[in-house]
Amino acid sequence: MVIFMHRIVIASRNPGKIAEFRELLGCLPVEILTLVDFPGIPEVRETGSSFRENALLKARPVTAATGLVALADDSGLEVDYLDGAPGVYSSRYAGPGRDDNANNRKLLAALEGVPLHQRTARFRCVIAITTPQGGEYFSEGVCEGRIALAPRGEGGFGYDPLFLVPSLGKTFAELGPAVKNQISHRAQALRAAREMLAHILGEKGEGKPGCGSGF
Ligand code: IMP
Repeated sequence: MVIFMHRIVIASRNPGKIAEFRELLGCLPVEILTLVDFPGIPEVRETGSSFRENALLKARPVTAATGLVALADDSGLEVDYLDGAPGVYSSRYAGPGRDDNANNRKLLAALEGVPLHQRTARFRCVIAITTPQGGEYFSEGVCEGRIALAPRGEGGFGYDPLFLVPSLGKTFAELGPAVKNQISHRAQALRAAREMLAHILGEKGEGKPGCGSGF
């Protein structure tokens, strides 16, 4: 039987996100809980004006409610030609309740006639870690690319079919999860968060079995 010294909570109910966090953090000797284990904790409205603010808005109440270290992320797409839009509004760019296809169509329309070299963009992810002692820690990951002239590829979600990684000549939707999880903004933020978490909890992750190979 494994006896964990620490319990942490991933402030999410999203199965895909939880799986990514588990893959990375599995190498730490911590028991990983999620909001699925705390059905009474309500969803947070993402009213912040930065990814950092939103990540903190999601993590802090979970620590307050559970007394445990909590992790939350917030992410989105920044397009230079659009002065950083859609940014924190990435999931609802085309309006509340609209889907990924509507967001992608709106983005292509906003960049109509703009040549590829001016379509520079990046995905950004910020992870907030909050502790019962009042500590607040942040990690960040960025993945640079361009917005393609038309959608390509079937994989992934969100803006993946439009996010071209120039060095690979493929969109995120064409790369497949293994490659995406090596280079993505979220993977980079998670790697940095793992180091911080190991430090906060006074543990070393390296060399322990179960560390995500995708990271
Ligand atoms: P959140 O971090 O779950 O709030 O995600 C914000 C939004 O950013 C998502 O709904 C997507 O529209 C976009 N986004 C964040 N990460 C990715 C990604 O890896 N691929 C495609 N879209 C993403």
